[in-house]
Amino acid sequence: MKNIVIFGAPGSGKGTQSDLLVKKYGFKHISTGDVLRAEIKQGSELGNTAKSFIDKGQLIPDELMIDILAATYDALCPCEGVIFDGFPRTIPQAEALKKMLAERQTGVCGMLELDVPEEMLMERLINRGKTSGRADDNAETIKKRLDVYHNQTTPLIEWYEKEGLRHKVKGFGSLEEINDALCAVIDTL
Ligand code: ATP
Ligand code: MG
Repeated sequence: MKNIVIFGAPGSGKGTQSDLLVKKYGFKHISTGDVLRAEIKQGSELGNTAKSFIDKGQLIPDELMIDILAATYDALCPCEGVIFDGFPRTIPQAEALKKMLAERQTGVCGMLELDVPEEMLMERLINRGKTSGRADDNAETIKKRLDVYHNQTTPLIEWYEKEGLRHKVKGFGSLEEINDALCAVIDTL
């Protein structure tokens, strides 16, 4: 099975491209943001905890996130493949993912980094906020999320580079162009 990490800043298009990849390859899609938003909608205890972090543009603590990820993964797999969208976001999460998959006799076969210029991210997220209904898609929270991304998440680029798994893909242009670029990499994995 193929375990693929789709990586990029908030607004880089991870969710949109994941949907296209799911259609093409039949992979399962694990979006930790979607999992958390579903919990918030249900009003679960986990949802309430998650909301207190998300609304401030902060990350959910690693230990909690790692448990959620493992439970979500085990509910869907074994399967053809998985796209991890929004996880890992920190080095401890990347290490936990590696360990979790190794315990299940598998591993990440590629990290696909969607490269999008900073100015475009802000613009895309502000636009998304007009229709997404997401409490975190407002200018102030977006700025915080981008800061968190730069401070806590970008070190993963080097981490995956060292693992020999990093593939950088141009994350702007038409949806099809971006998708073709991702598929070209996936077909080599
Ligand atoms: P994109 O726009 O590319 O979909 P995003 O950053 O806008 O990415 P989500 O991935 O949906 O949005 O995440 C929304 C929020 O959920 C994050 O800001 C964070 O608070 C929380 N979250 C999601 N995944 C994680 C994670 N792996 N670790 C910690 N917190 C997370
Ligand atoms: Mg998303």
